[in-house]
Amino acid sequence: MNMLNKMALSAVSGVLLGCSQPAQAQSDDSVVVLQYHHVSSSTPAVTSIDPETFREHLQYLKDNNFNVIDITTARDAIEKNGELPEKAVVITFDDGYQNVYENAVDALEEFEMPYTVFVNPELMRKHSGHYMGWEELKDIQQNGATIANHGQTHAHLIRQQPGESDEEWRQRMHDDIVTAQKAIDENLGQQQKYFAYPYGEYNNELRALLKEWGFHAFAQHSGPWSRWSEDTVITRFPASGIYANLKTLKTKLNSKAMPVVDYQPEEPLVAHSNAQPTISVTLQEGETLNDMRTDALRCFAGGSVLEPKWESETRFSIMLKNDINIGRSRVNCTAPSASGTGYYWYSVALIRPNESGSWPD
Ligand SMILES: [Zn+2]
Repeated sequence: MNMLNKMALSAVSGVLLGCSQPAQAQSDDSVVVLQYHHVSSSTPAVTSIDPETFREHLQYLKDNNFNVIDITTARDAIEKNGELPEKAVVITFDDGYQNVYENAVDALEEFEMPYTVFVNPELMRKHSGHYMGWEELKDIQQNGATIANHGQTHAHLIRQQPGESDEEWRQRMHDDIVTAQKAIDENLGQQQKYFAYPYGEYNNELRALLKEWGFHAFAQHSGPWSRWSEDTVITRFPASGIYANLKTLKTKLNSKAMPVVDYQPEEPLVAHSNAQPTISVTLQEGETLNDMRTDALRCFAGGSVLEPKWESETRFSIMLKNDINIGRSRVNCTAPSASGTGYYWYSVALIRPNESGSWPD
């Protein structure tokens, strides 16, 4: 149903019900994308979920009427203003570990939930056994999985190498990303183009290349995927490590997209000296913003809770209280919905390098 029909229909039902309350906010038009890595109890805790807990997630999604849909259905509905099911969820796995094949695939098939696996073809070749191979990927693809691109080598793509020209860097990006897609397409048939940034790291130059090559690209900071998302910075909720906890995951599964139309800093990478970057966010006027309890909007950075400074009714800024850590971090902002149906969620990704311009994995 297109937007006009939707509006017409809600106007009609308002008339039929004889109600004068404001129409229900259309903020359900978003998708919570979950991001997993390992499904195992013997891999690094920070990127792992044990198989039992993973099954609990699926059971929770089923019992609470979440609709797990495939990535292309989600993309098409968001971009073409199509209809998304209520409580839409997309499940993704980064890196394509063999333990996903061993410990997650059967449960996903049993629950009939589609999912996407982002793979690194060169790493698959070098470390067979650790990662799923093409045979395993073919097998899961036939059972409803989408296989997508995580680059050949899982590199810190935005780090230019010493002495590397811009043109050489672009060529290296092409070799890492387009060549990986070629390997995927050759082995599995031509696929839709989805890319997950290794480590969630991107900048404007890399985004522009991905756009030029026709990719949608997924990051690692959080928030629902919605019509306000940029198609080369699609956010996901990590669901491994400490984030595997169902109690906190519930809030995220029920979250709604903030109607963000502009934000600063635009790129995650800040200067080393910029230890407390000011964050500013501009929201779009309308029904969704009207449903946001902006008075109760709070942001979270490291351990601190930050109150926004409202510069206008649609624009707020956040001053950090502490220096951000070296490496990747996020500032998450949430605001309860006035209709009491969950939290609006928005996250800003930051990368602060050390003095020599690098940062840890
Ligand atoms: Zn990865």
